[in-house]
Amino acid sequence: MKKNPVSINIDPDAGFCTGVHKAVNTAETLLDRYKTVYCLGNLVHNELEISRLKGFGLKILNLNQLAGLPVNTPVIIRAHGEPPSTYAEAEKLNINLIDATCPIVKQLQHKVKRAVEEMAGQPGRIIIYGKPGHPEIVGLMGQADGKAIVVQSQEEIPDPWLAEPLEVFAQTTANAEAFNQFAVDLKQRAKQCSFEKDQINIHHTICRQMKNRKPSIIAFAQAHDVVVFVSGSKSSNGRFLAALALQANPHTYVVTAATELTADWFDTAASIGVSGATSTPHWLLQQIADSVRKMTL
Ligand code: SF4
Repeated sequence: MKKNPVSINIDPDAGFCTGVHKAVNTAETLLDRYKTVYCLGNLVHNELEISRLKGFGLKILNLNQLAGLPVNTPVIIRAHGEPPSTYAEAEKLNINLIDATCPIVKQLQHKVKRAVEEMAGQPGRIIIYGKPGHPEIVGLMGQADGKAIVVQSQEEIPDPWLAEPLEVFAQTTANAEAFNQFAVDLKQRAKQCSFEKDQINIHHTICRQMKNRKPSIIAFAQAHDVVVFVSGSKSSNGRFLAALALQANPHTYVVTAATELTADWFDTAASIGVSGATSTPHWLLQQIADSVRKMTL
């Protein structure tokens, strides 16, 4: 018996966020002009996109390798940003730094820097809610001149600190619900410690594009019989969104490439959704959708 045609939809909200889009565009423009362009760290958390760009001459290096480059070599700073020490090092070495820091991350760096300056000589602390060692956090800590601490839970903040002014920021890619809870708990603790005045200033600095993906991936996963979620293996945003999709629809499969697709997944499906992380390129979503289509003909 002939099967009814299966509908295959690419999630309109999936794919590069504006920050990653800008960084990849910058790399492509430079690769048109130069044979070889360098990037400090992986430009985007997607292996296939990195390998596509490497095919055009992109090379990934770390900070220690800057010293080995010829004068005026173009080196991209990716969307996560870098601490001021990287800019100073590049200037010393006469490296041509091309800054593709996401404007939202840049704004957060300025806010942290301003908070540190305003607190100079006064009691108080700068708290950054995020993942220690994450490149964005490394860049933010660089703005704080050693005066900030990174935490992942409010238990890491000792009671006596709650009596002092606290300027609290979140990594742009932090989980919004977890951060809101963190902020509520922190203020609650300050009250329980009977500190006369709440001096905790919470800055809601999580990127709106990240926040909006949560309700959108849940609705998208619920609207399809089967979901194929496409993400690089090292993308934490990909892991987060894929887990949400899986919760919303147990027939969710996570892949990094079309070669990982299995025809059995689609046996009884009438509608198939293809979604991905903020670091998944659109061409890859399209490639996966095309492969799924061939498997369901
Ligand atoms: S997730 Fe938001 S803050 Fe992070 S790079 Fe993308 S647009 Fe910028």
